[in-house]
Amino acid sequence: MSIRLENISKTFGQFQALSPMSLNIDEGEMIGLLGPSGSGKTTLLRIIAGLEGANSGRIQFGDRDVTNQHVRDRHVGFVFQNYALFRHMTVADNVAFGLEVMDAKQRPNKTEIQHRVKHLLEMVQLGHLANRYPSQLSGGQKQRIALARALATKPDVLLLDEPFGALDAKVRKELRRWLRSLHDEIGFTSVFVTHDQEEALELSDRVVVMSNGHIEQIDEPAQLYAQPNSRFVFDFLGNVN
Ligand code: ADP
Repeated sequence: MSIRLENISKTFGQFQALSPMSLNIDEGEMIGLLGPSGSGKTTLLRIIAGLEGANSGRIQFGDRDVTNQHVRDRHVGFVFQNYALFRHMTVADNVAFGLEVMDAKQRPNKTEIQHRVKHLLEMVQLGHLANRYPSQLSGGQKQRIALARALATKPDVLLLDEPFGALDAKVRKELRRWLRSLHDEIGFTSVFVTHDQEEALELSDRVVVMSNGHIEQIDEPAQLYAQPNSRFVFDFLGNVN
């Protein structure tokens, strides 16, 4: 599903968190939002999700105008930094959650839900942990379960907020490779937030570099290095890590 943002802006009280910005994302693209802390990455992601309303502008998913649509109706999957799994539910129930709460018209039947959960757990290579509880899993395993849960409803768009931020470097690297191959296999459109340059460059088809609530540059990773279009981008890419 393609995403079109047109003149999106956001203020919190007097504070302009996002200046009016436009952005077109192609179907199947993986887009990294990269920038220093406070540059507006999470705010932009939450506006795409419908978790936050914009002050101006329009958002389209494919042909669908979703600007005034509730998060529930936008058909997005969301993965948070801290996994946000339900502690009192098994791994399988966590993955099934998004399907169980669908309204009756759309909800698959029980057998179909079980089938889909089994398939998703195999896909994230954690089928053997279906009956465990989140407290019995490692950080990397929890994050893979969070991804399976987000993909369960077959969302049009997958949004990830610092998905691997809480993990150590080795696991982060593994999960990055794994997410990229999962993406290439399934082909979902995806936007993720990171302040980790390596993560943005390795995972993204295109990177959106943000500072102070505006977009500095949008380009493929190699192009960002070859032709940074501002002093900010040049310094930011040179100095991080
Ligand atoms: P980033 O994800 O790049 O770190 P954010 O989008 O979280 O940046 O925040 C951008 C700016 O907006 C920050 O200065 C932050 O303090 C401010 N901000 C974000 N959410 C709120 C809020 N709910 N109320 C007030 N200010 C906010």
